[in-house]
Amino acid sequence: QIPVICLDGPTASGKGTVAARVAQQLGYHLLDSGALYRIVALAARRAGLPLDASAEAAIADLAQQLAIRFEGDRVLLASEDVTEAIRTEQAGMDASSVSVLPAVRTALVALQHSFRRLPGLVADGRDMGTVIFPDAPLKVFLTASAAQRAHRRHAQLLSKGISANIADLLADLEARDARDMSRSTAPLQAAQDALALDSTQLTADQTVGQVFEWWQQ
Ligand code: C5P
Repeated sequence: QIPVICLDGPTASGKGTVAARVAQQLGYHLLDSGALYRIVALAARRAGLPLDASAEAAIADLAQQLAIRFEGDRVLLASEDVTEAIRTEQAGMDASSVSVLPAVRTALVALQHSFRRLPGLVADGRDMGTVIFPDAPLKVFLTASAAQRAHRRHAQLLSKGISANIADLLADLEARDARDMSRSTAPLQAAQDALALDSTQLTADQTVGQVFEWWQQ
C-alpha cells in the first residue's frame, strides 16, 4: 500500500503548514483537500449557482468536471491561477457551504484518491482519516484553541498586508467549526485511530517534529 499521512482538524489549526512541511521533508505528494472545496465553491459562484441544496446536483456536476491542477504552491482552475481567489474568508465560508452537500463530497472522492501516488501522500482536511483514506497508517487530528487559531489567521493575513479584525476572524472560524462539526455527511471528527495533537502551545517546528516522531515509530 502506498503510505498516506492524514492531517485532519478545524479551520486554521495549522494543518496546511504542517502538511506542506511534512510532505516536503519526506518527498511525498500533498493533497490540500480544502482547496478542492474552495475551488468548487468558486466555480459554482461564477456559474451563478446558489450555494445550497437547491443546486446540489449542478454543483456536484461542476465538481466532477473540475480541471484542477496544483503546480508548486499555485492552484490552477482550467488555466487560471486562482491561488489568491480561493484564500479569502468569503471563499472559506463558501467552501464550507458546498461541503455540506453529500453529492458534492461524493463527486470529489475519486479525485482525492488519485493523489495517492508513490512514494507517498500527506493529505490535509476534515475527513481524510475518517472517509477518504481510512486505511492510512498515520492519522493526526490537529487542534488548537479558537483564540489561538484566530490569532494565527490574523498574523497570516497581516503578513500578506491584509488587515483584519481578530473578533471577526474568531466569529467566522467558530461559525465554520460549528457547521463542519454538525453536518450529517463526513462531520469534522477525529478518526477512532487518530492521534490527537493540540498545537495551542507549540510552534510549527514542534508540531512537525511530533508528526515525524509518530511517523518513525
Ligand atoms: O481547510 P480549508 O479551510 O481550506 O477548508 C475549507 C472548507 O472546506 C472547510 O471549512 C470545510 O467546510 C470544507 N472541507 C471539508 N472537507 C475537507 C476539507 C475541507 O468539508 N476534507
